[in-house]
Amino acid sequence: MTEFEAVIGMEVHAELLTASKMFCGCPTTFGAAPNTQVCPVCLGLPGSLPVPNRRAVEFVARTALALHCEISPRSIFYRKNYYYPDLPKGYQVSQYGDDPIGRNGYIEIVVGGQTRRIGIRRCHLEEDTGKLFHVSPQTSEVDYNRSGVALMEIVSEPDLRSAEEAREYLVQLRAILTYLGVCDGKMEQGSLRCEPNISVRPKGSAAFGTKTELKNLNSFRAVSRGIEYEIERQVAVIRAGGQVTQETWRWDETRQVTAPMRSKEFEQEYRYFPDPDLVPMVFTPDWVQTQQESLPELPRQKQLRFQEQYGLPAYDAQILTETRALADYFEAAAARHADAKAVSNWVMGELLGRLNAASLDISESKVTPEGLAGLLDLVANGTISGKIAKDVFEEMFVSGKAPEAIVQEKGLTQISDEGALATTLDAIIAANPKEWEALKGGKEQLTKFFVGQVMRATKGRANPQLVNDLLKQRLAS
Ligand SMILES: [Zn+2]
Repeated sequence: MTEFEAVIGMEVHAELLTASKMFCGCPTTFGAAPNTQVCPVCLGLPGSLPVPNRRAVEFVARTALALHCEISPRSIFYRKNYYYPDLPKGYQVSQYGDDPIGRNGYIEIVVGGQTRRIGIRRCHLEEDTGKLFHVSPQTSEVDYNRSGVALMEIVSEPDLRSAEEAREYLVQLRAILTYLGVCDGKMEQGSLRCEPNISVRPKGSAAFGTKTELKNLNSFRAVSRGIEYEIERQVAVIRAGGQVTQETWRWDETRQVTAPMRSKEFEQEYRYFPDPDLVPMVFTPDWVQTQQESLPELPRQKQLRFQEQYGLPAYDAQILTETRALADYFEAAAARHADAKAVSNWVMGELLGRLNAASLDISESKVTPEGLAGLLDLVANGTISGKIAKDVFEEMFVSGKAPEAIVQEKGLTQISDEGALATTLDAIIAANPKEWEALKGGKEQLTKFFVGQVMRATKGRANPQLVNDLLKQRLAS
């Protein structure tokens, strides 16, 4: 049977974190009462004139530079003409053609240990539409608060080959946007929206198959599931002797299937032309240089630095740099505790596990980097065992108390008193003569049993290394 491979390109729309809209002074606060953040410009009333938002232009240029794009020396706004109730002007101001603000860049992703460069075709600026609510089969309502909000579109080359790569691309892109502070990256609120276009072709073929576009993906999980589903659907169509048609499909989150929306428009149907109300933007080399120099350390650079500076595996570095706040947290803890790998393990395991379970952000963690470092110090210097440390962590997570205080209050200090541990161990040996004989007879897995019994008897406070040593002494005698 023919093997197929997927060819995936991503279109990502990111709402920019500007205080006002793209061409007017209306605020952009999320969640305001419908149609309260509007004016003649963003309602498309006759005679109103747009004024571009300088900050939005800077945001797109900085993003483009972070994506290794070249900046067009001259960039133009176009009108994309179509009618839809959420588009009061009857056109959307967008960018078209060869002169978007940024072009020809790339993002590096690491999937399955392989580093791949995914091309960025363009990075441009446009305005968002309003939002429709279909409240009943007869009634739809429209909220124009979002109409005219500054929106950035980032289009990749069709370089992605699997749902996993597409997801990782999005993770990295979101990290870049949030590091730059240009978008809050909230997929569930629609401030980051992704529309993959997907086609399949026989493995080894250079020609492209017919692509479909997938909409309504509002979580990373939906992105993976939706793409996987669409790849399988297309392969099934072709294997059954059918043809894939160029359409837009929608991911149905409840049913976990893709469903057709409408046939996809072709570019020429939009009758693009330069917006006569907006002058071309001209970017001088000096201005571009200034933007370039203002970029912070980006996720990929940080990952490589974490590997180098802290000796972390690539996997750890990738997870720890997904948000700037998490990376900062790790670095603050690693600055206070020498074993960076231990810090990484605790941040990725205990901390992120508990934060996710409680749907909390790292900024809401009651365990501070200092607190975590202090806890790891207590383990490293033998005050508490690793097992007790997990209990202490749990308490820190809930109460925010310092680890030293919890250990003091609860008397959790590790028992390293050889005499006391020997007494406990001898009592356990006496109580389990059969197991003891078997261990002496060579059944080594019973070592664990005896150490475990001592740990239980001391409520986890025994120094396990010392118990092991004592056991060996007794076996040798
Ligand atoms: Zn307005």
